[in-house]
Amino acid sequence: MAEIRIENLKKHFGDFVAVNDSTFTIENGEFFVMLGPSGCGKTTTLRMIAGLELPSEGRILLDGEDVTFNRASQRDIAFVFQLFALYPHMTVRRNISFPLRVQGMARREVRRRTEEVAKLLRIEHLLDRGVGGLAAGDRQRVALGRAIVRQAKAFLMDEPLGALDAEFRDLMCEELRLLHNRVGATTVYVTHDQIEAMSMADRICIMNKGEVLQIGAPMEVYARPATRFVAGFIGSPSMNFLEAEGGLPAGAREIRIPGARVPMPETREPLTSRNAVLGARPEHITIRDDGPLRGEVFAVEYMGARQMVTVDTPAGRLRVRAPNTVAVDYGENVGLAFDAERLVVFNAETDRSVASTLFEAPPVQGGAHG
Ligand code: ATP
Repeated sequence: MAEIRIENLKKHFGDFVAVNDSTFTIENGEFFVMLGPSGCGKTTTLRMIAGLELPSEGRILLDGEDVTFNRASQRDIAFVFQLFALYPHMTVRRNISFPLRVQGMARREVRRRTEEVAKLLRIEHLLDRGVGGLAAGDRQRVALGRAIVRQAKAFLMDEPLGALDAEFRDLMCEELRLLHNRVGATTVYVTHDQIEAMSMADRICIMNKGEVLQIGAPMEVYARPATRFVAGFIGSPSMNFLEAEGGLPAGAREIRIPGARVPMPETREPLTSRNAVLGARPEHITIRDDGPLRGEVFAVEYMGARQMVTVDTPAGRLRVRAPNTVAVDYGENVGLAFDAERLVVFNAETDRSVASTLFEAPPVQGGAHG
């Protein structure tokens, strides 16, 4: 197990800046997810931690030791590629023990570790079977076993579930997280899928264009996004953004949007009429007769217990998550009310949040590293 510290890390490819001055610490035993759109610098950061890429500037510390210029093989970090790819002609035992055998480890030790991992994954009874006829769930456990058998200080995973279909990916996410809870090894996991990140991470690091925008527990980045980009990237469907009418003094508790005045959390800085943007998640808008913003229902999508209602208002088209007990119809004129404590206000020029919810994130399951 290890703590990984990144200090002022930069990576240029010619004139192009792939990673720009990242500084953060990945705690010992943490499941740390790096999330962002394609090309934002996640893989480059991971490859620098692994020792597969040399930083242009900055340092990488493993348990306090500077390993910036150490080779990958000297770092005792396991880089896990595709988790699901097994060797079809080998037994479960040979699949799991493969990384130890290529290291040239003594046979008795290989056997001991392989059996220990198989027990942890509840597949000891399958050790001498071929992987060909295994059920999907058992195959994924074998793949996990092969990934963790090395007992490295930390595991780095780059989109390991990328090629799986949705159902299998969900299963694998759950299995990975359960395994992490049992083994407790520091894990850095790269993905562009926010649902994967939200469901597995102790903390999420959100990147865009080479910059780290925010690091926090899933509930924290969801409830208190530091920037408009983070707010829009996390959550499905995305947060609604409404442009304000008129400026706001610092300390304002109300924002004017086309068609209504809406109470909001206190702003920390003054905003002009051009740069105030209100952010409201679909579940923080309620359909109510006395709601201050009026609009016409454009679409209703039933989703079992909930429904997603799209409403055209003078402030733009908004998506509202409502219980299925609310009766609404296409073309109907409805009132919308906003949950003031949950709203976020952004400065459109800096993209940063200047007023956010008072809502406190609950403790994180499986180890808090806030
Ligand atoms: P993806 O999920 O698409 O891999 P990412 O966030 O992991 O995205 P990186 O792979 O880290 O992004 O790449 C960041 C940027 O750096 C991209 O624009 C990429 O084209 C560029 N890049 C990465 N490696 C090299 C290289 N060896 N030479 C030149 N440019 C590179």
